[in-house]
Amino acid sequence: MKNAVINLDHVSKVYGTEENQTFALNDVSLVIEEGEFVAIIGPSGSGKSTLMNIIGCLDKPTHGKYFLNGRLVSGLSENELASVRNKEIGFVFQSFNLLPRTSALDNVILPMIYCGVGKKEREERATKMLTSLGLGDRLAASPAKLSGGQQQRVAISRALVNDPVLVLADEPTGNLDSKSSDDILQIFLKMHGEGRTIVMITHEMDVASMAGRIIRVHDGKIVSDVKNGKKLRHVTKTKGVTE
Ligand code: ADP
Ligand code: MG
Repeated sequence: MKNAVINLDHVSKVYGTEENQTFALNDVSLVIEEGEFVAIIGPSGSGKSTLMNIIGCLDKPTHGKYFLNGRLVSGLSENELASVRNKEIGFVFQSFNLLPRTSALDNVILPMIYCGVGKKEREERATKMLTSLGLGDRLAASPAKLSGGQQQRVAISRALVNDPVLVLADEPTGNLDSKSSDDILQIFLKMHGEGRTIVMITHEMDVASMAGRIIRVHDGKIVSDVKNGKKLRHVTKTKGVTE
């Protein structure tokens, strides 16, 4: 068995008061191994973003344990968590989340400043990354001067520049036309081919089908988990609310 990059052990996330609880995640256990490309799908409100926020150390579970690369996340301080997010996880969002008045190059340089990479190396690495994604002639452009597909390629460059073990993407093609979506998905396939672990949230089945493993969530629970056409677990579908 390969290294478990993600190991969720009976994780729940509960919002609201005692009388009126929402289980955004309800007793989710999940192992994702190094090198897997996993799509998480499910309807709006099913818990996809909550799951991504926990996996990405942006949020902590109410119950259960989360191990990232074998390390128990709930035992880490806020500073340690910030460092884990910066070094070990690359984030890609639907709305790109770039700094608006900052060049493509400086957007990609930013995560390296936080972990102390020297100025010359920062510039070299950012330039190389952007060039490899076809933006070598747009280094000085601010996001407003770039198309959506180009902005997402800057965001992917930023996500990869610290060489993270894990790339997390929440609807990365959600704001793109179909041509740009295809380009971005090809980049994800290439990352996967290079051995990167990827977890991508989407509500589009054709996007999900590019991943080797598809996990479906509903009402905060995993209701199916299929890898290369094979069911990884049997889940009885519960109807209705989970409170
Ligand atoms: P998805 O990303 O699949 O649309 P979310 O993870 O955003 O779903 O939400 C799952 C459930 O948790 C929803 O019922 C949502 O209303 C609830 N929820 C999410 N975040 C919060 C929050 N900060 N406070 C209260 N309820 C929340
Ligand atoms: Mg969401």
